[in-house]
Amino acid sequence: MKDEFYLDNAATTPVHPEVIKTIMDVMTNVYGNPSSLHNVGMVAKNIVNTVRKNIAQYINCRPQDIIFTSGACEANSLAIAGWKKIHGSGYGITSTIEHKSVMKAFGSEFYKTERCILPVDGNGSIKLDLLESVCRDFSKDNFGGFLVSIQAANNEIGTIQRIKEIAKIVHKYNGVYHCDATQLFADRKIDVEELDVDMLSMSGQKINAPKGIGFLYVRNPLELSPIIYGSQENGLRGGTESVSYIAGLGKAIELLNERLKDSNAALSIINKSEYLASEMIKNIPHCILNGVKNFRIDRRLNNNINISFKDIEAEILLLLLNQKNIYVSSGSACNSGDATPSYVLRAIDVPDDYIRGTIRITISDEITLDEIDYIVEQIKDCVEKLREINGVN
Ligand code: PMP
Repeated sequence: MKDEFYLDNAATTPVHPEVIKTIMDVMTNVYGNPSSLHNVGMVAKNIVNTVRKNIAQYINCRPQDIIFTSGACEANSLAIAGWKKIHGSGYGITSTIEHKSVMKAFGSEFYKTERCILPVDGNGSIKLDLLESVCRDFSKDNFGGFLVSIQAANNEIGTIQRIKEIAKIVHKYNGVYHCDATQLFADRKIDVEELDVDMLSMSGQKINAPKGIGFLYVRNPLELSPIIYGSQENGLRGGTESVSYIAGLGKAIELLNERLKDSNAALSIINKSEYLASEMIKNIPHCILNGVKNFRIDRRLNNNINISFKDIEAEILLLLLNQKNIYVSSGSACNSGDATPSYVLRAIDVPDDYIRGTIRITISDEITLDEIDYIVEQIKDCVEKLREINGVN
């Protein structure tokens, strides 16, 4: 058995050795600036172009529709702030469980009414009838159009949205649909044509590439204004391209493609997540699985187990588990030491006596069933201790 357990793959993933090798090769041998017109620059430019072409093929778009960014925060910001700059009189529609980068890029002034921040149901799914009614109302007004930003899958509770249905509704009323696919990218093959999205964000760090690289897909002929000025990426994202990281991202997507083709690998991870969740529910009293309960209906990220324990503080559970070299994430968003329950958990109405005791476990397929048994035992032990200290049993 391992001596430590990294169970926080939604936060970030280890960089794959083949990705490291690709990055090292490029960093060592290709030092040119892709904008330089001599041979050294052209070698660098060729790498960027080849990766762009390969990624475009993978997500089924044109190479020029991909804008490399530093990750998904930047991609989300470019999609939303870049659209707002052109459609100043337009409006935004989003959900209560989006990533902070999406919420902040919109800014409260961009929502027409409170209805523009769509509530979700108890599983974290967008209510499609509400989306449709807001889009319908907006389409009647004479203004600068509307942008809908609804994530593909939630980073905390792992709920996968009905992306195609959302796109259909948004387009029926002539809106633009941006989808933050940062979490789904590692789990499902993304085809932007099939999903019918207008913009899509991703971040390399979730798919075994380094932190600090990602991209935004923008469907032609949608117009955006840059948020970082310069001449690269068709003028949409200034800054000399990070050639080695772009090469690493390309390699990570190549490896991901192989992994996603293997349906046994997906099934294996689903089996393990389901086992972990059910063992916890069976062995630890008063705990609930948040989000979609069924791992097999294509509505939950395969590796996400978000679970709440009654009457404990997740922050302390996290520290106890950390001492045992078990690394999970708490379901609470901590702002400068002030632990307030996560807005995502609030949005799905996790009961008050459970909400503070929420942890997120995101596994990788390396974990074995024996290790899962050990982890459940350790979590049970810690939860019992904390309840004892709190005077509840
Ligand atoms: N969107 C979602 C859904 C995420 O989970 C994350 C990363 N936690 C981001 C955006 C931002 O990614 P990055 O920090 O790599 O820019």
